[in-house]
Amino acid sequence: MNFRKDSRRSKNQNNDEQKKVLDKCYREFVRVNRKFFDAQLPTPVIALNQRFTARAGAFYPRTKKIALSWKYYLAWGLKELLGVLRHEIGHLALPKEGHSRKFKELLEKLEAPRYSKPFTKHPFRYEWECPNCGVKHWTRKRVVLACGKCCDRYNQGHFAKNFQLQMVKELRPRRPPSKNL
Ligand SMILES: [Zn+2]
Ligand SMILES: [Zn+2]
Repeated sequence: MNFRKDSRRSKNQNNDEQKKVLDKCYREFVRVNRKFFDAQLPTPVIALNQRFTARAGAFYPRTKKIALSWKYYLAWGLKELLGVLRHEIGHLALPKEGHSRKFKELLEKLEAPRYSKPFTKHPFRYEWECPNCGVKHWTRKRVVLACGKCCDRYNQGHFAKNFQLQMVKELRPRRPPSKNL
């Protein structure tokens, strides 16, 4: 799904859609709570945050509130947002664990992502790889670039053809993974 700007939609359209999305979120919570926690988790307040542009979701342990980014939903759609919700439900279930191993194991069970996708308006088109160290890089345009790390390390910081990034994929407009949730 392409990034859509909030402002292109009318207020009512947004309100209706937000209600629907929130409803789906609460249903997802009930489903996950029944399936994995014997319905023992307290129901959190789930809210859609209009301003989150760098984080997809957050859990506030003191108030047991889960906030999810509306812009993330607009960029990536419901399925991805529900993934973020399951991640935050993981924090609700293990509030003192942070991102510990135990927490990560729970995420796997919940089929929840560890990272969110970035919020960029500009989708990347090309995926590149360093032939030496295998590091990946994404760009919007075709470029001639060499791996900075390898050039620094083995060529005194100068461009070296040996380390020229090789294009490995042309992507449909997409963004690379990133960001801790
Ligand atoms: Zn490299
Ligand atoms: Zn987290």
